[in-house]
Amino acid sequence: MSQAFDELKQYLDRAMALQAALQLFEWDDATAAPKEAGKLTSNVIRILSGEYFQAVNNEEVKRLVKASREDESLTPIQAAQVRELSEELEKLSCIPKEEYQDFARLTSEATRVWEEAKEANDFLRFAPTLKQVVEYQKKFAGYRAKDGQRKYDVMLNDYEPGFHMELLDRFFDTIKKEVVPLLKAVSESKVLVRDDFLTGEFSDEQQERIGRFLAEYVGFDFAKGVMAVSAHPFTTNLHNKDVRMTTHYNHNLDSSLFSIIHETGHALYEFGIGDDLTQTLVGQGASMGMHESQSRFFENIIGRNKSFWIPIYETLQEAFPEALSEIGLDLFVNAVNKAEPGFIRTEADELTYSLHILIRYELEKELIEGELSVEDLPRVWADKYEAYLGIRPENVREGVLQDIHWSQGSFGYFPSYALGSAFGAQLYYHMKKEMDFEGLLEEGRLEVIREYLREHIHKYGKLKDSRTILRDITGEDFNPDYYVMYLKEKYGKLYRLDQ
Ligand code: ZN
Repeated sequence: MSQAFDELKQYLDRAMALQAALQLFEWDDATAAPKEAGKLTSNVIRILSGEYFQAVNNEEVKRLVKASREDESLTPIQAAQVRELSEELEKLSCIPKEEYQDFARLTSEATRVWEEAKEANDFLRFAPTLKQVVEYQKKFAGYRAKDGQRKYDVMLNDYEPGFHMELLDRFFDTIKKEVVPLLKAVSESKVLVRDDFLTGEFSDEQQERIGRFLAEYVGFDFAKGVMAVSAHPFTTNLHNKDVRMTTHYNHNLDSSLFSIIHETGHALYEFGIGDDLTQTLVGQGASMGMHESQSRFFENIIGRNKSFWIPIYETLQEAFPEALSEIGLDLFVNAVNKAEPGFIRTEADELTYSLHILIRYELEKELIEGELSVEDLPRVWADKYEAYLGIRPENVREGVLQDIHWSQGSFGYFPSYALGSAFGAQLYYHMKKEMDFEGLLEEGRLEVIREYLREHIHKYGKLKDSRTILRDITGEDFNPDYYVMYLKEKYGKLYRLDQ
């Protein structure tokens, strides 16, 4: 028994309770809150955030963290919580309070300016603000850098511990070398993939009914979670018995069906966090990339797999008789796997997605470490789209202004999206050796796959980082070759590239 940790735990429990409240407000704001609630609710959120900050960042907590760090009797889970908190405190303490507050003010302003600039399709309106955001981020990373660590590495480490430019350069070089020519071959292929039947008038009721069916089929537990509608789908959790996901309904069946499966993948991670970890600082997914690996694993590797639909395609046809009654399973599966270069990242298919991220990675790296200036972003952005995707955006709304991330100061975040897909592919090839993966899908036995992921990934929360998880499961460090192999096999077959 550690007395220091016991005292510390009271602060942590309070912080976790406040965080759960904050998350509930965030969820409510995006789903159910009335339009006029915003202003007064943001006052409540401001007070709760202040309380949260105070609960983890005060002199007493710092003293208890120090005492706990020296205590060898802590259990591994206790020690991990102390480590997590101590890193968080260190991050905050090396940035002067005044600069931290100025930056918080700047980013809330920057998001508004970004929105207006995007609306007006005018990059110059956003450029001066973005410049300030970049300068702050570079300054903060400079304060936090340890032993000659580079600034962009500091940022990357926030989202994906254990990853740095050296490793990511290798990853993105592989993507550039292999996926760019693969897309070119797909674009030149004579195979036409028909997908017109995925667009149409589908009622919200139809979409909700099939959405709930799919969520449950994939493993969403409605006794421990709820589903609602929001502008952009997302998943949040209060703890492992209360997971909240959202979806959206629209004219595109692909987007509606696969958003649900994607968010269910996130939700399964949260349901799977061990009872001994939930509501602690280590009771979340290992990293951004690992979380995204689970959602993309279910969305793409499972959800866009023909075997997945064999037991349930009839149900889908019955749900959308006008669109699908004449469409056979093969036609449907081909349609949801169609690849085509486009400008918008969030609408990208599985093949082109990583190229959107490659572009952002190269630009961020140049902005933070190199010579690229904010003013040059639109031109360099367009050049890269032309080089890698073969299309050139005509305007900044569809180009450099499409994502919110930079206005929020989230540099280093994008790579985790592509890493998620690559982690998933590495897991997939390993799991195929351990089980009859496609056979299980054909029999509708998804619980075997789910259980495997829970046992090897989910239950550990933040106790392991993503590279350790991959090594422990596959016996190999992160290896992007599996991702390339996966894409080549899949699209080679669909577009008959070997003929
Ligand atoms: Zn996601």
